[in-house]
Amino acid sequence: MVEKAKSKGKELEEKLLFKSKNLSERGTEFFRKSNDFCEGYKKFLCNKTEREIVDYTTSLLEKTGYKKFVPGTKYKAGTKVYFNNRGKNLIMVTIGKKDISEGVRIGASHIDSPRLDFKPVPFFEDTELAYFKTHYYGGIKKYQWSAIPLSLHGVITLKGDKLLKVVIGEDPNDPSFCVTDLLPHLAKDQMKKNASEVITGEQLNILIGSWQFKDDEVSQKVKLNIADIIFQKYGIVEEDFLSAELCAVPAFTPKDVGFDRSMIGAYGQDDSVCAYANIMAEIDIKDPTYTTITVLADKEETGSDGPTGLSSMFLIDFIEELASAYGVELRRVLSKSMCISSDVNSAYDPAFGENYEKMNCSYLNHGPSISKYGGAGGKYSTNDASAEMMYFIREIMDENDITWQVGELGKVDGGGGGTVAMYISSHNVDTVDFGVPVLSMHSPYEVTAKADIYMLYLAMKAFYLCPRGKQ
Ligand code: MN
Ligand code: MN
Repeated sequence: MVEKAKSKGKELEEKLLFKSKNLSERGTEFFRKSNDFCEGYKKFLCNKTEREIVDYTTSLLEKTGYKKFVPGTKYKAGTKVYFNNRGKNLIMVTIGKKDISEGVRIGASHIDSPRLDFKPVPFFEDTELAYFKTHYYGGIKKYQWSAIPLSLHGVITLKGDKLLKVVIGEDPNDPSFCVTDLLPHLAKDQMKKNASEVITGEQLNILIGSWQFKDDEVSQKVKLNIADIIFQKYGIVEEDFLSAELCAVPAFTPKDVGFDRSMIGAYGQDDSVCAYANIMAEIDIKDPTYTTITVLADKEETGSDGPTGLSSMFLIDFIEELASAYGVELRRVLSKSMCISSDVNSAYDPAFGENYEKMNCSYLNHGPSISKYGGAGGKYSTNDASAEMMYFIREIMDENDITWQVGELGKVDGGGGGTVAMYISSHNVDTVDFGVPVLSMHSPYEVTAKADIYMLYLAMKAFYLCPRGKQ
């Protein structure tokens, strides 16, 4: 077929104007690769808490040649090591060919997601039904958490300092749990309420039983019956809930979405989607020029506080430990380092189009989204990446044929949100946000596009392997 010559205007348009591309243009072979990549991702998504993700990822690392980090060791280029912080953070490293004084490449994502945490005294009976009381964790629309199947996850430290890991409600043979809602027939007043009050925090109680213990001497018969069941089965007594980290999460199994199977629907994709792409990139790279550090953070959804959140020093202390074996000062490493804060962005949703600014928001299937800044209002509480850092990333993406897009969260003053970027950049590390766009973010069933996930994996590999450093 003879190709039609391009018009002058068309030529100029391509040369001068910017337009992000839909990954569908790459055709079926690219789609197949994305699809294959996401089979592993769907397995990864079955791990629904930071501790489960750390355990699962550690087993992946040990299968692929990573060794436990030993402080004070001068590792040779190409060596792969990992460090586990309190069972909730994982730092994975591939030692680069260049001296660590030339800086490191950091990929940071978080592995905690919004959920219903148990209160320290959660167990009660009301009108012959038994419940666990919760305190929600992270930014949720509370009404979305009623009338859906929930599973229970977490750990309990039992007497004798024994850690019991709990997952109930994921196996098809397990029981399920739920928060109840009012029938529409009686909801005349409820439906007039503000959406944040339709289900209140104190109504987020998890239904756990209804059958009574047969003994007329006992007042709370359903509670006692459940207490008996969980003692028989797990050896837990009520006081043990005090030394526990338990939560309820949606019991959905990760699934393909759409007739074309181009998307994935699952709980916890913020930010497991970027975590998985970062982990796989870290595992797959060989002999990088610069040392790479892939970090999985906890507590991002509640502000990055505490020893396992990125406002703690655990990452910086680790880099110091790594650098000191070579006699290099921490500040030298940090000032020459670069970080991609890999967190999800909000994808344009036609049903809520008025909340987005169409030129500066992310679209499904247009590749991972670069956010120069996040925060809220007049760019408060954010890392605002420099022109130089933005160019550095842009150049790597172009050299490696990576399709990317630009993404502000939504309209100016429409709300806002943060990532771990500002906590890492506060240590004098050039940082930029770069992650997968998500529909229904923070809901029990978030949706992502497979092609974007695979493209983020390729982008992270390109960032880790780029031989150029900071001037
Ligand atoms: Mn996030
Ligand atoms: Mn989030």
